[in-house]
Amino acid sequence: MGMHRWERVAQASGLMAADGTVTSTIFAEMSALATRTGAVNLGQGFPDADGPEHVKDAAVAAIRAGRNQYPPGPGVPALRRAVAQHQRRYYGLDVDPDTEVLVTVGATEALTAAILALVGPGDEVVTLEPFYDSYAAAIALAGAVHRTIPLHPGPDGFRLDPAEVAGAFTPRTRLAVVNSPHNPTGTVLTRAELEVVARAATDHDVLVLTDEVYEHLTYDGATHTPIATLPGMAARTLTVSSVGKSLSFTGWKVGWLHGPAELVTAVRTVKQYLTYVASGPFQEATAVALSDDDGATSTYLTELAGSLQDRRDLLCRALSDAGLAPVVPRGTYFVVADGSGLGHDDGAELCRELPGRTGVVAIPVSAFCTPGGPVAEELRSWVRFTYAKSTTTLETAAHGLARLKG
Ligand SMILES: *Cc1c(COP(=O)(O)O)cnc(C)c1O
Repeated sequence: MGMHRWERVAQASGLMAADGTVTSTIFAEMSALATRTGAVNLGQGFPDADGPEHVKDAAVAAIRAGRNQYPPGPGVPALRRAVAQHQRRYYGLDVDPDTEVLVTVGATEALTAAILALVGPGDEVVTLEPFYDSYAAAIALAGAVHRTIPLHPGPDGFRLDPAEVAGAFTPRTRLAVVNSPHNPTGTVLTRAELEVVARAATDHDVLVLTDEVYEHLTYDGATHTPIATLPGMAARTLTVSSVGKSLSFTGWKVGWLHGPAELVTAVRTVKQYLTYVASGPFQEATAVALSDDDGATSTYLTELAGSLQDRRDLLCRALSDAGLAPVVPRGTYFVVADGSGLGHDDGAELCRELPGRTGVVAIPVSAFCTPGGPVAEELRSWVRFTYAKSTTTLETAAHGLARLKG
């Protein structure tokens, strides 16, 4: 008896109970708990302040100028040009806006369409673990097998082990999904770590799909290195990013992907039958943001990273003071902390208790792991918090977390 694809998705995401009933995600459960208890929601990662006014104004202007019908399939030309410009300006990458860029419905559609386009039953896909939850779902939807490279906590943050990178690749591996800066751990992969992944991908002749939505959100001088900038890698890499995290417009769902023309064509072939196109006026506004003609966007990005670093410090201090040992992240919206120091072996249980005890909602790191797998076990006591919230909100959370000590 074959399982339906949706059942595989539910299973891969830990949503299928033993009796076959389907549960909602832990994200939905925790957001409902936050609403019910009035707790501060540090579970879901979205900012509580909108992005820059000049970009909002560009969206309003595009609507008023009548840019309200279907945009072109690959995305509006101005945005494809702006993506190419952005990749050249920040990373020295040479991208053809006409053949090598595809605009998508957020990074999520770029990732899912790429996985559906490039792998199928019998193929293996390698990702880091923990992983952003949509990867496992998309791999299951494609009918492929998911293998992972664990990130282990240590004095230098969560790091990968080169031997485990080599061990994750097999003759059946078709695609490696990289994510740096990394959600949920906040790790910014070093050039040396990226080289280990690049070597494995090259040795096994595997394509690379890299999720760089936090490319501009790095701290303490950490620099983001796109894996496509490593020697020889541009030819086998699809790079994904979006406007959501960089510019604090998560509701706009404008994303993009770029890479070799034949790979972009493959992804566009699938994407055009998922959504065809979306968000015309928001694409126009994102083009204004990325082309950054007057420098307003780069100023915003610098200020956002600085302010997020301060908010990270506030939350990390509160977590340490409360006895929830955090691993200080070098990027993203998130920090993960170990509940075992407070005697909590089960992060999911801790997250169900936190709202009542502290007025704070978090997400167990096991939600970003293969259900029942070794990494879920290793990180069982860990929980994830976001600091992409106002200082006032984080101070309220810090005050509540202090009660854990009492
Ligand atoms: C938020 C997030 C996404 C989704 O990006 P959208 O542009 O909103 O689709 C993808 N990957 C990671 C790692 C994220 O944290």
